[in-house]
Amino acid sequence: MNAISDRFPRAEATASQGKVILVGAGPGAPDLLTQRAVRVLENADIVFADGLVNDDLQSLLRDGAIWVDAAKRVGGKTKSQQDTIDEMIGAAQAGKSVVRLKGGDISLFARGGEEISGLQRAGIEVELIPGVTAASAAAASAAFSLTHRDITSAVTFVTGHNVREELPDLSPVDGGSQTVVVYMGIGTASDLVSALTEKGYKPSTPVAVVERASLPEERVLYGTLRTLPHVLTSQSVESPALIVVGNVVSTSRGWWRTEALAPVAQTAHDAHLAHG
Ligand code: SAH
Repeated sequence: MNAISDRFPRAEATASQGKVILVGAGPGAPDLLTQRAVRVLENADIVFADGLVNDDLQSLLRDGAIWVDAAKRVGGKTKSQQDTIDEMIGAAQAGKSVVRLKGGDISLFARGGEEISGLQRAGIEVELIPGVTAASAAAASAAFSLTHRDITSAVTFVTGHNVREELPDLSPVDGGSQTVVVYMGIGTASDLVSALTEKGYKPSTPVAVVERASLPEERVLYGTLRTLPHVLTSQSVESPALIVVGNVVSTSRGWWRTEALAPVAQTAHDAHLAHG
């Protein structure tokens, strides 16, 4: 036990029979894992990791513990969500200390909700350990506040597409003043630009794209709502990447510097409009 858990004993989550601990692994950098998550991983018998989890975390496991790549393709197709839930239920019922490790925070996207309710329906006790979500990591990388109080008092997290592969409900962002953070939005960015424009966002609204936030290969790119589709294709942005739309982006330390590099023809003009 380390000094911090001595002082905060209630923060001592432990794995136990019949229980699954869902752990947010953060955005990728191993040292953004919480201390509680580290403790739980060190004590696990079996860990089900999703695709965004950093493989280096395997080194935390004790000898004999099993690391299951739950995103792995088996026989040419990816394992279904239900297969993973069933495997976790089986392991918990067999008395194993089971940990489910997912990127970012468990409570945001990536089907965390389905797993929580699937496990609970089977009578499995569920415990959640929060993680640093990609939005926080992206804002940290570009050094701006998602809710800079001179600019906006609200931020909305949306997915690029909902469960029916449609654009998400954007009614909360009516008016165009609040920050919008788009998860899983690379493929649907053009549709999103149109939808946000209809909601009142000016084409000149600043946008940041953060690819692989917190990892050594991280890239932070800037543009505006109008140039976003071009930024994504011309810079070959790949998942995982996050799109942040809103005037808060103009407070980022890289905003003007990037504009000077002018990777996108319209950026300087748009930025001028954004500030004008
Ligand atoms: N639960 C996760 C989100 C899972 S959805 C969280 O809280 O962060 C998966 C999406 O998250 C990706 O498509 C991408 O949009 C975003 N994402 C996850 N990790 C990221 C990273 N390191 N950098 C940028 N975006 C990331």
